[in-house]
Amino acid sequence: MITKQVILKPGREKSVNNRHPWIFSGAINRVEGDPSNGDIVDVWNNRARFVARGVYNERSQIRVRLLTWNPNDLIDEDFWRRRLRRAIAGRQALLESPDTDAYRLVHAEADGLPGLIVDRYGPWLVVQFLAMAVERYRNSIVNTLIDLVAPQGIFERSDVDVREQEGLVPLTGPVWGEVPPDLIEIVENRHTFLVDVKFGHKTGFYLDQRENRQTVTKYFPGKEVLNAFAYTGAFAVYAAYAGAKRIINVDSSERVLQLAERNMRRNGFGDREDVYATADVFEIMRAYQANKWKFDVVILDPPKFAHNKRQVEKATRGYKDINMLGMKLIKPGGILITFSCSGAVGRELFQKVLFGAAVDAGRHVQIIERLAQGPDHPVLLTYPESEYLKGCTCRVW
Ligand code: SAH
Repeated sequence: MITKQVILKPGREKSVNNRHPWIFSGAINRVEGDPSNGDIVDVWNNRARFVARGVYNERSQIRVRLLTWNPNDLIDEDFWRRRLRRAIAGRQALLESPDTDAYRLVHAEADGLPGLIVDRYGPWLVVQFLAMAVERYRNSIVNTLIDLVAPQGIFERSDVDVREQEGLVPLTGPVWGEVPPDLIEIVENRHTFLVDVKFGHKTGFYLDQRENRQTVTKYFPGKEVLNAFAYTGAFAVYAAYAGAKRIINVDSSERVLQLAERNMRRNGFGDREDVYATADVFEIMRAYQANKWKFDVVILDPPKFAHNKRQVEKATRGYKDINMLGMKLIKPGGILITFSCSGAVGRELFQKVLFGAAVDAGRHVQIIERLAQGPDHPVLLTYPESEYLKGCTCRVW
């Protein structure tokens, strides 16, 4: 086999040696063997020594996505099988749990599978191929998933913007086996949810919040809860089980709130005096403030405000705004549960934003708990970008 090589500029191999899985175009001195997009290339340092092996893509700023640092690792079907096996082995506790049947099986780079997301919803798998590195090998990956997981069907949700940056078109639809129903019923910590895997956000459900939802249930008994950015009501269902007095769900999408209401009904909470308000969270919180409405608990789980570093400044203003408004709406001694899922906004910066919000709200705010993405969304030490979800529970006086 004639190898194709990417030769790095002098002094640009450090991040590769530190096992960061991306090589940007600027680090490359020259490319030999005329690789096509999606071909396997060996990465050499400027002294012609092998440093890593990965997938080449000229269409992307991330020119090479690294798969292995072991020169003996061939990228064949068995390679994908080993990687998928390892990812599944890391989720054994969830796989065996009688209480939960929906979780992330593959978390992309953090599992050594660049750009690949595999989420399990009961007997169904929902996949995203977000990079050429896995798009090109989708047949091996799909066949191996069928073999290892034996799903009833695999559905694809690669309808995301990042594919464009890889020179790939968006794709969605059935990939293999039976087509899942429009709403899949899942169990999470013994609560049931209907998940719209075909049109819902991400692959249908915010699986990364599973542990946090459970963790914060202790704040709900007897309380009035503002569930801002409610989506399909996952936090609301947990709050209702925990005995929340009343839950005010706010989301800008009526469609997701309808599903939130159905999810509440399905769990036996159809007859409560909860509220489902289709509204902009910023606006409704200002209105509540003007009307002097106060809550015992406010949950803020907004969408990603910063999609990249350039958007961080604007995003921090948004985070500060909603958190300031949220704090103002909390009764003294009440609880703020607040999140940011923007990877570009680090935990330290998020805390600074909360600090600014507390000062402007004029409240005495204490962090009493820190929250993060669940264990099925691991953070790879050599790829800190895999950490994106951060949250705090605060007591607001
Ligand atoms: N907490 C949810 C996930 C929230 S996702 C869960 O655990 O499942 C973010 C939600 O915010 C989406 O449903 C989106 O429709 C909604 N949203 C985005 N911008 C909004 C805004 N300005 N006002 C109200 N809702 C908004």
